Amino acid sequence: MKKKKKAKKTGKAPKKPLKAKKAQKKAVKKTAKPAKRAKQTEFKTVYISLGSNVGDREEYIEQAITLLRETPGIKVIRRSSNFETQPQGRKNQPLFINAAVEISTNYSPQDLLLLLQGFEDTLGRDRSIEWGPRTIDMDILLYANELISEDSLTVPHPLMHERLFVLEPLKEIAPNVVHPILERTIKELYNDKKAEGITSEKYDEELPGFREVKRGIADDYERW
Ligand code: ADP
Ligand code: MG
Repeated sequence: MKKKKKAKKTGKAPKKPLKAKKAQKKAVKKTAKPAKRAKQTEFKTVYISLGSNVGDREEYIEQAITLLRETPGIKVIRRSSNFETQPQGRKNQPLFINAAVEISTNYSPQDLLLLLQGFEDTLGRDRSIEWGPRTIDMDILLYANELISEDSLTVPHPLMHERLFVLEPLKEIAPNVVHPILERTIKELYNDKKAEGITSEKYDEELPGFREVKRGIADDYERW
């Protein structure tokens, strides 16, 4: 009885030990707080990529989109079809379903990232293996024409132009949107990448596109 009362008081389940990534995320959450929503009132067009390769993958994609739809301050404008793709990075894992969505939001980029990470947690994302299987991954690809280079957030996503599994769904909903650094449309980036005939990524090497992005705006880009 006593225990129950205590649980009620805090309104939380007893704490489990935090994994390193979670602890890091918590720290990010804390530092991001001062930048809270007050700053941003204008609605911006944002593109988000979705990926899942665990369990009912389509269902996780649907749930992620539903969570976005149900969030005040976010309007889901359009979504791509689902694409089944080979895993990159760590190959020995199930195939992915990838999709992209266009939203209009008055969330700041940092708050949006925290929101998406919260959704990932809600949908059971396990962060213990880097580039490992995941119920859902939600990345910010483009945030209007903004260039962001922070420890926890880089926009445009620095690998988006290297990833067919990102460009293919994105091209379906935003073919004529221009990448603000590379100054090419999504369709052009997709065609370029497709022409290369490379379907796999090399995470362990410095990508040429990476260097281009680096020259473009910042020299503190990191691989993640
Ligand atoms: P990945 O998406 O590369 O598989 P995670 O989803 O675990 O890996 O993300 C790792 C980190 O990437 C996050 O902690 C987040 O702070 C950082 N990050 C930087 N830029 C972005 C972005 N544009 N969208 C999503 N996450 C980003
Ligand atoms: Mg991610």
